[in-house]
Amino acid sequence: MPTKNFRMGKFDGAEKISGETLAANIEKRGGKTKHGCHTGCIIQCSQVYHDKDGKYLTTGFEYETIWGFGADLLVDNLDDIANMDRTCDEAGMDTIEMANTMAMAMEAGIIAWGDGKGVLAELAKVGTKDPLGRIYGNGTAYTAQAFGVDRVPVVKNQALPAYDPRAVKGVGVTYATTPMGADHTAGYGVCQNVLKCGGDVDGHKKEGNIEISKNLQVATAAVDSLGLCLFVAFAVLDDARGVPCMAKLVSGLIGKDYSVDELVGMGVNCLKDELDFNKRAGFTDADDQLPRFFQTELLPPHNVGWDYTAEELQAAKV
Ligand code: SF4
Repeated sequence: MPTKNFRMGKFDGAEKISGETLAANIEKRGGKTKHGCHTGCIIQCSQVYHDKDGKYLTTGFEYETIWGFGADLLVDNLDDIANMDRTCDEAGMDTIEMANTMAMAMEAGIIAWGDGKGVLAELAKVGTKDPLGRIYGNGTAYTAQAFGVDRVPVVKNQALPAYDPRAVKGVGVTYATTPMGADHTAGYGVCQNVLKCGGDVDGHKKEGNIEISKNLQVATAAVDSLGLCLFVAFAVLDDARGVPCMAKLVSGLIGKDYSVDELVGMGVNCLKDELDFNKRAGFTDADDQLPRFFQTELLPPHNVGWDYTAEELQAAKV
């Protein structure tokens, strides 16, 4: 759990912002601990969260949102985090990007670490004519540049999500190499590194993590291209029948046989198109790397580092 702008991997206030606390609050105040974003979903990963007076506050604030506005900013008040989520939802802002943007404001001394009310006040400026709000609205990299911050967790100018790449290297390789920038959903190595779903690869060591990231990037591109919710990927990874079943779904849709090889090929082609787009937009292999501080600082409590070269990381690309 990246803490204080990726300085540590452990947050003392974690229990106060945990899923258990969230569920207990919902049970006490009303709301829903399960909620589907569309009809027919049997997973129902979302929730409806009320304030302490039992009034609707927000919907579907997830691990990444709670991490970003919580541990990464040293904020341990779940209701403040829920309010930050609501503010972002109402303005159409991505919570990972804005949480990292607020970390830049903390690095610059505009907000004190851990000051949830201070974050809410700054977030409220986005979308108004306030000069700081205009800076924040451009995201993490822009805000860091404006304030002269040099500890900037972005890849290809996209802010990092809720898994430290030094300790969860499978997803770290994805952050560095996916055409979209630091996107955990583009190849969720957390599966094999932490959840042990679809394999068991040590996230602290380099061995095997380029391979899992590459395979996951291909599979994810195929799942995304089909318009399926990414959470089906867990079923696909955990059961040998998963991928053939997806190919059968496509066969049923198009009315002719569609093979597993074609499905995998679709994922590969999708990534190739994206890489080609990036190349023509001016990105080079040197952009497939994490920010420098990950390479120079070890992450406590396990004191793991990041020592992949950009050349090594090319093997994760199709
Ligand atoms: S994101 Fe996926 S798992 Fe979550 S509620 Fe929507 S369809 Fe269901």
